[in-house]
Amino acid sequence: MISVEEAIERILAEIHPLEIVQVPLADALGRVLAQDIVAQDDIPPFDNSAMDGFALLSRDSRPRNGQPPRLRITGGVAAGYVSETAVEEGTAMRIMTGAPVPPGADTVIQVELTRNDGPESIWVEILQEVAPGNNIRPAGEDMRRGQTALVRGTEVDPWVIGILATLGWANVPVIRSPRVAILGTGDEVIDVGESLQPGKIRNSNSYLIEAAVKRAGAEPQRLGVARDTVESLRQKFGEAIQYDLILTTGGVSVGDFDLVKNIMQEQGNINFWRINMRPGKPVAFGRIGNVPLLGLPGNPVSSAVTFELFARPVIRKMQGHRHLFKPQIEVTVEDGVRDSGTRRHYVRSHVERRDGRFVARTTGNQGSHIMTSLLGANALVIVPEGGIDIPTGGSARAMMLDWPEE
Ligand code: AMP
Ligand code: MG
Repeated sequence: MISVEEAIERILAEIHPLEIVQVPLADALGRVLAQDIVAQDDIPPFDNSAMDGFALLSRDSRPRNGQPPRLRITGGVAAGYVSETAVEEGTAMRIMTGAPVPPGADTVIQVELTRNDGPESIWVEILQEVAPGNNIRPAGEDMRRGQTALVRGTEVDPWVIGILATLGWANVPVIRSPRVAILGTGDEVIDVGESLQPGKIRNSNSYLIEAAVKRAGAEPQRLGVARDTVESLRQKFGEAIQYDLILTTGGVSVGDFDLVKNIMQEQGNINFWRINMRPGKPVAFGRIGNVPLLGLPGNPVSSAVTFELFARPVIRKMQGHRHLFKPQIEVTVEDGVRDSGTRRHYVRSHVERRDGRFVARTTGNQGSHIMTSLLGANALVIVPEGGIDIPTGGSARAMMLDWPEE
């Protein structure tokens, strides 16, 4: 039995980012940039006005004999247009936000600091002296041509999309999204739409894992449920081998019908198959052919927790992410944890911020078949190996799964 850390290390050593693909900008959300993005233009591309107002020469804004200077208006420039005429001494041009600063002008005064007879007026009074560069957004102030604006490995979020759009990337080089095969196992497992018969249970795992894979940004495909026979598993793995990753649930324990490992041995290899943790000791990792396979436990909570701990980082590494793991924080465990076992325990908990501290409350019965204990669990409190108790109000580390909105 290996530790969680060793398991993660051994798994990730075998996993590599997938190839580069080009996707339309609008589809790039959540993907990872496969190359540095270098600005091919100055941004903004030209000196432009930050205000609606007047473009003028700064020295013309100085009061004369204590009176506001009066300048002749020679025209106007709106956003999207370029002024043909230059601003000369004693003149000003109307200018709108985003419009290029006309030649000759070295400053812009906002309309609120001027006075005139309205839109048809041919003169304007300047009510405040302004310095050169006032209200002018210089070309290249945000990004310079030739500058690396975004580095490879950056996750594309809405703000990154905005920068890519600004720089003209209609198609974006990203890492391909992994296609993940999800296989249930077990003679007792029937599909969700079927009615329960004696001895049968519904396939919750495949659907839960499918959703978790989607949420991790990959493309899941459920392959149904393999019977507990070598033939059925062989047939399903024949299909699964076309994917980037295979996730199975169940069939990796020590029972007579836990045959997933047999097929791994027959058609690939087993790297390891037990981890010193609960829920979820029976996790197998290896390959079928060349495709990495993570055999998650059958118990629903175990498969959910081991997905978060092992499968999600695998998917993220394939996607090219630099950060693979959920954050861990220090929490106060309000109701404590009494632990009889000696394996490391990941305790389903709800963490919230209270009086400036993070407080965890466990979600009740921690049996690995108690699915309702996952409800409201936004964290896993980590109880170290060795059968350690966390007293009421004691502190522990927690892996945050989710941070709910307020
Ligand atoms: P196993 O490791 O195959 O012995 O499965 C462990 C436990 O998980 C058993 O109680 C199974 O019935 C249950 N189980 C296995 N697969 C699923 C599934 N797809 N959905 C829900 N429970 C399952
Ligand atoms: Mg089984």
